[in-house]
Amino acid sequence: MTQTRAIIIRNGRLATRGLRADPADILVQGDTIAEVGPPGLAAPADAIAIDATNQLMHPGLINAHTHGHGNLAKGVGDRWTLELLLAAGPWISGNRTLEDKYLTTYVGAVEMLLKGCTACYDLTVEFPLPSIEGLEACGRAYADAGMRAVLAPMVAELTFYESYPGLIDLLPAAAQKDIERLRLAPGDATLKVMRDAMQGWKFDREQVRPAVAPTIPHHCTDDFMRQCAVLAREFDVGLHSHVQESKAQVIVGLKRYGKTQTAHLQDLGLLGPNFTVAHGVWLDHDDMQRLGDHGASVAHNPGSNMRLGNGLADLRGMLARKVNVGIGTDGANCSDNLNMYESMRLASMVSKSQGPDTDEWLTTDEVFAAATQGSARALGFGDKLGRIAAGYKADIVFVDLHNVNWMPLNNAVNQLVHTEDGSAVRHVMVGGRMVVEERRLKGVDMAALARKVESARARLEEVNVPNRQLFERVEEVVNTFCPGLAKMPYHIDRFGSGHHGHDHAAYVGRKG
Ligand SMILES: [Zn+2]
Repeated sequence: MTQTRAIIIRNGRLATRGLRADPADILVQGDTIAEVGPPGLAAPADAIAIDATNQLMHPGLINAHTHGHGNLAKGVGDRWTLELLLAAGPWISGNRTLEDKYLTTYVGAVEMLLKGCTACYDLTVEFPLPSIEGLEACGRAYADAGMRAVLAPMVAELTFYESYPGLIDLLPAAAQKDIERLRLAPGDATLKVMRDAMQGWKFDREQVRPAVAPTIPHHCTDDFMRQCAVLAREFDVGLHSHVQESKAQVIVGLKRYGKTQTAHLQDLGLLGPNFTVAHGVWLDHDDMQRLGDHGASVAHNPGSNMRLGNGLADLRGMLARKVNVGIGTDGANCSDNLNMYESMRLASMVSKSQGPDTDEWLTTDEVFAAATQGSARALGFGDKLGRIAAGYKADIVFVDLHNVNWMPLNNAVNQLVHTEDGSAVRHVMVGGRMVVEERRLKGVDMAALARKVESARARLEEVNVPNRQLFERVEEVVNTFCPGLAKMPYHIDRFGSGHHGHDHAAYVGRKG
């Protein structure tokens, strides 16, 4: 992805400079920003000039948590809790061919790029275990689209049903038998594939790098979790897991471990700077402290947390305890888009909706930093992505200031977080290469892509009929059992003394 001639970007306004984004020139050498300076910045005589007049430049947004396999399932569900979504997994993500795995990932990359996002952390799933070819197909999708990604096979040993003690006993006998075919591969086989995949990794790690994602702690044995951590350390890659996302999960975790899942993960040795908690809606202050002490990250997905009824995360509590916070969209099967501008807006609103104490609220600067620098650190790219500064990769979004979103430009960062919705994104540069130009992904025939997607959708709908029917047979039991768990009394000490917001546990306990 390297350009040999230098690039000089002139006349653009830099989003993070002053209230109304002061003008700045950017010199790019190869795939990296060499210098950022005042208008008229010196550049080599043969540098390619890009005129960014009437454009606002910001670092590419970074999606700290998504699922490439979810993109072919956008809009399938509506009133689904997290547990119903998990039960729907074999229906909405099942029976995928290698080409489907490429296509679903590629569609997500296209959406993210068009909406100003240049890198993501993708937790992708294959049944009954990951495959080297499957991971290569997903990696190729990002490389072809021209986007960066951390690609983590999402793995477990137990199915959703096996991970909730008592749930299977309540299912109709025929469904009990049917879910046997959903069994996952033994942990050792899964670990071996991940090891082989990382040993033979074919992609440029600056563009597509691997990571390890034991999906949800109580879907794994302790030994499997430990082995995942060993693997991540051995290959110096990230570890990512959904932790304390729903209240039902918290109750199951407390029953199984006698402590919170985060406390248990600390005991297992998983917490560290390479560890990312997805969601963390139900972290208490001690959990946040544990994560902060270990330099770990939380990927905050406000859209998904609301859509699945999991509640509102406490970002101020996390930041106060030095947790690195990134922002994500989660999968399109539960959010139902991959729009990082919307995620920023929701992150700000979620923080502000929990009470009138403005000190507890995130500022737009904090939200914007989370969606860029915070996410970059969660991806393991903290020193290379998330800023427009010398030494950082040239991943730059150009926003059209003549779009109605920017009439007028009063405050650049406030408007990026609260006003922009992706419709003003005009160009997107990744590693010094224009990937999106004049709102179009270069070299992509959208009509042809749409035809391929529709044909995959129709075929998958057909072959997954038995999986859909199985979901329909278990839906009522899952939707009684899991909210039942969530009604159990559990007081979460999240706000401590001095917080004037309402009680979070009461908020979630009220629903269902
Ligand atoms: Zn997720």
